[in-house]
Amino acid sequence: MEGKRALVCGAGGFIGSHMVRRLRSEGYWVRGVDLKNPEFGLSAANDFVIADLRLRESWEAVLDEDTNEVYQFAADMGGAGYIFTGDHDAHVMHNSAMINLHAADFAVQRKVGKIFYSSSACMYPAYNQEDPQNPKCAEGTAYPAAPDSEYGWEKLFSERLYFAFSRNFGLKVRVARFHNIFGIEGTWRGGREKAPAALCRKVAEQQDGGEIEIWGDGLQTRSFLYIDECIEAVRRLVQSDCPGPVNIGSEEMVTINQMAEMIMKIAGKKLSIKHISGPMGVRGRNSDNKLIRKELGWAPSQSLYDGLSKTYPWIDARLKAYREETKEAVARV
Ligand code: NAD
Repeated sequence: MEGKRALVCGAGGFIGSHMVRRLRSEGYWVRGVDLKNPEFGLSAANDFVIADLRLRESWEAVLDEDTNEVYQFAADMGGAGYIFTGDHDAHVMHNSAMINLHAADFAVQRKVGKIFYSSSACMYPAYNQEDPQNPKCAEGTAYPAAPDSEYGWEKLFSERLYFAFSRNFGLKVRVARFHNIFGIEGTWRGGREKAPAALCRKVAEQQDGGEIEIWGDGLQTRSFLYIDECIEAVRRLVQSDCPGPVNIGSEEMVTINQMAEMIMKIAGKKLSIKHISGPMGVRGRNSDNKLIRKELGWAPSQSLYDGLSKTYPWIDARLKAYREETKEAVARV
């Protein structure tokens, strides 16, 4: 592995910053690029560039000839509160599509060895995800296309874009459809956080006997994959001959209410749940791992409870630190 060079796009974000660390631990020389530095500590990259990947000149500057692997995680994204309100649709589509259009083009121009693209389960058709107990998300069920968000449509478009570049220009692509990745060093406040982080924060904010709010009736189902598992699966995919698209997710489907109960148990708090109206996305979604098991022999090794047991204390500590900082700032005024 010595001497391999990788470019990680979106290296200041959640999955990108974990991937940088993993590649470095495997001996890669890594350049990270993002609009921002990682929020929770210094990047492990050999070279970290602040740049806007919607711009051609950024790609000209960051993508060296003969880079072995490009990991394309950069996207304008967030949880349900960001993706499903409709308020950010134009930005989500335009910003992410611009990044991917340049990524595919420059990967060919600079003769990169392989490019990994992070698609999302949000590209699956809404009509297959109406029954919360029986969602269908096998890779072959993508068409007729009917994602429930513009975010999902952009992901589907970009998947097709990379495969078109593969057919016409021989670009070696690897595409995964992530299903709700969570864990430490993920966004936990501010409006872009996803359900596991948002629920951990809400539970951490409350004293025993308090109340938390959940969007909808909490009976919508999802599965969640811990970050380390996601990184392992991506590495296996990139090293394999399988172009994808493959699901990378967990098949442990839970309702949002059940996940809230798990977090309360981890926190040692009994809280009541108040259901309020809010953006929810599809009724049910679960990863279908038949293909990735067959192609890569990969399956998650830990339960949702295990992952939450690592994530909750991390968010609890962040919240306490944040409260201290806010108190000090108020005291200074
Ligand atoms: P994230 O928001 O933490 O990371 C994305 C990063 O891209 C951010 O740091 C952001 O600053 C950067 N970025 C956005 N626009 C940019 C631009 N114009 N130029 C340079 N950088 C830019 O998200 P994440 O959770 O790490 O997700 C990584 C990828 O995986 C995304 O493409 C996302 O759509 C996909 N995905 C994630 C999940 C999940 O559950 N986290 C699920 C499905 C798909």
